Parts: sequence; structure tokens; C-alpha cells
Amino acid sequence: MHELGLVNYVVKQVGKIAEENQVKRITSVTLEFGEVSGIVTSYLYDYWKWYTKKFPMFDGAELRCETIPAITWCDDCKQTYPTVKYGKTCPHCGSGNTWLQQGNEMNIKQIEVEDLEEGGSDDKSGNADPEGTAGAD
Ligand SMILES: [Zn+2]
Repeated sequence: MHELGLVNYVVKQVGKIAEENQVKRITSVTLEFGEVSGIVTSYLYDYWKWYTKKFPMFDGAELRCETIPAITWCDDCKQTYPTVKYGKTCPHCGSGNTWLQQGNEMNIKQIEVEDLEEGGSDDKSGNADPEGTAGAD
């Protein structure tokens, strides 16, 4: 039920932001997850479809997910390495004295909206312009 709670949370957060900005309809929400956050995105998509039906504002809103790579820091040799590949043992020096630096988080990255009410000249949060998400690989 981890994923359901998350969908609930995201809908609440986005709904609040939308209300504050007099947004009538959400067209898409982009989430980003850490690689080791344990989120199963296929469940997430299912819950999203089912749950957002209850809210006209979210009718037809698309859910997108992006991954934040997990990176571990080694306290002994002061280097980082990819967590998923090497786990808790540092590939540089073999130390187990390591800490997850990133990869366990979840953020609402971007919200795209259909229309603002008349009269609001505020910034349109979530313009259709996609952010540069090209990986640094
Ligand atoms: Zn090391």
C-alpha cells in the first residue's frame, strides 16, 4: 500500500498547489524517485488511474516517473559509487563504511496544467517546456 499512500499524497499536494493558482485542470504530473526508494512504478500508474478518477481536476492527467540514480558515499576513501551495482561495499577500497548519499527520495518534479483562470498574470507553473533532463551519464 506504499504506492497508494504516495498517490494520495501527490494528489493532495498537487491539488493544493492547483487551487492556490486557480488551475482548473492538471494535464500531467512528473515525479522523480530514487532508484532504491522501493517504489514500484507499475503499481503507481494503476493507483494513479484509479484514484484520479475521483477528482475532475485530475481527469485524464498523465503520470510520469523519472529515476534519480542511487549513489553511495564511502567514508574511508571519500569516493562515491553507484549503489545498485555495488551495494554496501565500496568498489574502490572494499570498505563497508558507506552511506547512501542519494536515491531514496521522492519529489514532485513538474506539474503541467491546462489553463489558468482569467485575471491571473502569475507565472504559469509547469509550462509545457520540458526541463533538460538529459542524464549526466
Ligand atoms: Zn572506499
